[in-house]
Amino acid sequence: MRTSYAVGVDVGGTRIAAGLVERKGRMIKEVRTLTPATAGPFAIVDTIIGMIEEVTVGVHSAEIAGIGMGLPAQIDFLKQTVEFCTNLPLAGVDMRSLIMSRVRHTVVIDNDGNCAGIGESRFGAAKGVRDFVMITLGTGVGGALFLDGAPYRGARGLGAEIGHMLIDLDGPPCPCGGNGHIESFLGRPAIAARGREAASEYRGQAIRDEAGGNAENVTADNVVQASLKGDEVAREIVLAAGDVLGEALVGVVNLLNPKLIVVGGGIGESCPSLVERAAEVIDAKALAGRRDVRMVQAELGNDAGVLGAAALAFDEHDSREGLHR
Ligand SMILES: [Zn+2]
Repeated sequence: MRTSYAVGVDVGGTRIAAGLVERKGRMIKEVRTLTPATAGPFAIVDTIIGMIEEVTVGVHSAEIAGIGMGLPAQIDFLKQTVEFCTNLPLAGVDMRSLIMSRVRHTVVIDNDGNCAGIGESRFGAAKGVRDFVMITLGTGVGGALFLDGAPYRGARGLGAEIGHMLIDLDGPPCPCGGNGHIESFLGRPAIAARGREAASEYRGQAIRDEAGGNAENVTADNVVQASLKGDEVAREIVLAAGDVLGEALVGVVNLLNPKLIVVGGGIGESCPSLVERAAEVIDAKALAGRRDVRMVQAELGNDAGVLGAAALAFDEHDSREGLHR
């Protein structure tokens, strides 16, 4: 039977979002809440169950294709298990079975970056593009690869971790335990550290003001806000981040020859100048593939993960039922 709705759940280190989504990507109902990150895996599962119940109330269960869920973790996509998770205590937790034992629907899990990529591919900035790369700049740096029209996850589904590509042999520590990875330069904590450094000096007054006058409290979003208001010091930090992003993506363009690079995540979506600077670096430094590539900001904002997770649930349902998209 051709069902009308799927539930998408986007689990982040800070927030969880869940939505009831129509086949064409219309969000019917959406709820958000804080992630009980320190209360253990069962508290997280309970929260997710409550949210699924809330968005599906009043909908006949036969109308629901299933539940798709994006997790900020490395997922073995074939086995549907959580292998590694830095921000939440979910490594080794059988999230899929735990959720399925309490709702009457099939659950499919994927990496959150892949879900955002699927969302942008199906309903957003990358609609109709067969070869693209998505990079999400938020607290962490995630991403997705779409090669030849499908998400590329690697042998087991652990791939496409763009944020953990090495760009500096002597670089700063990365939350994953490595050093000099893209995330160690472009994650929120790294940008906030640049901002705090500037704000502790006279020249960083505008950034300090954004943080209520206290340099110690400066966040990445304070830096972004000051830069959007025209502060030169904040703008320098944002453009330096754009340089790093561009340099990192030169290698990606040379390796994959994508047609499009979509930059998402809270930082990526609020900083057009960062994205423009990265595009300039690619244009100046990449090999011939630079002529094919366009660089754009993501279009779906916070909804990308929920919409992509729901699309995954529809796909899973349709292949199970032998239906074709
Ligand atoms: Zn890393």
